Amino acid sequence: MATVETTAGPLAGADLGFTLSHEHIAMQPANIGRHYPWLVDRDAIRSRAIRELTEAKAGGVDTIIELSTPDLERDVALIAQVANASGMQVVVATGLWRDIPRYFWTRSPEEIADVFVHEIEVGIADTGIKAGVIKVANDAEGVTPQAELVLRGAAQASRRTGCPISTHHWAPKEVGHRQVEVFQEENAPMDRVCIGHSADSTDADYLEDLLNAGVFLSMDRYPGADGRPNWQQRNTTVKELIDRGWAGKLMLGHDYAPGLHPEESPTRYLFLSTVALPALRKDGVPQETIDLMMRDVPRHFLTGES
Ligand SMILES: [Zn+2]
Repeated sequence: MATVETTAGPLAGADLGFTLSHEHIAMQPANIGRHYPWLVDRDAIRSRAIRELTEAKAGGVDTIIELSTPDLERDVALIAQVANASGMQVVVATGLWRDIPRYFWTRSPEEIADVFVHEIEVGIADTGIKAGVIKVANDAEGVTPQAELVLRGAAQASRRTGCPISTHHWAPKEVGHRQVEVFQEENAPMDRVCIGHSADSTDADYLEDLLNAGVFLSMDRYPGADGRPNWQQRNTTVKELIDRGWAGKLMLGHDYAPGLHPEESPTRYLFLSTVALPALRKDGVPQETIDLMMRDVPRHFLTGES
């Protein structure tokens, strides 16, 4: 049976349960907290994350895919402490976000893939924890030359290890087209790729174009933010794609990071469970379709099993 790497070691795919596709536990840009420790209160971040993830677990969330990277101050030891204390199953990521360290600018895709493969097969730093997913990111600037090297490296690492890829993409500018193109050029297994932040677009035709390449979509960033689709618009787009037959390729999440938002009750990790999913049900989406998106699709994505 296929397993998924988590902070607590390999987990049987069947035990993933209700899974949020794109979240964070602790993140800061550019290792600010390591260099200026007085600016980041790690103890406060840890205790708040434990509190919110304990609540999320009690509310029915079993697993989160944590997509913080080294340039987002990924702190796998802290994430593992939070996972352990809250009972949440957490998959952590290798890869890079938008602040690609200059070191990688002059590396070949093969050399970049070597770095990602190390974190997938050997582990992240000295934690012994292995990455279960590869994160890459392209925002409004599109796929820059440096970011293209990272995409190609991620595709090669995925091919070599079977580890899936989850992207951050700027949907209003349809940057997903270029992400898909680069992955196809590298012969990445397209059924192991998830194009993320896709619910920032309300254009179902654009999203269907991506889906036709064989990828998954992460319909995340619920409940939305100023200048972006609100949660009702996100639901409308999700419903449209379900109606077009794509439920088996959709995952949902919040892209939530406790430290970057004021605390809410219930925790924002439960926004889907308490607000958006009940509204989808009210709009006629059957429970089995919701289970498909929240349970089966993340398992297919993470394990490669159909
Ligand atoms: Zn994110």
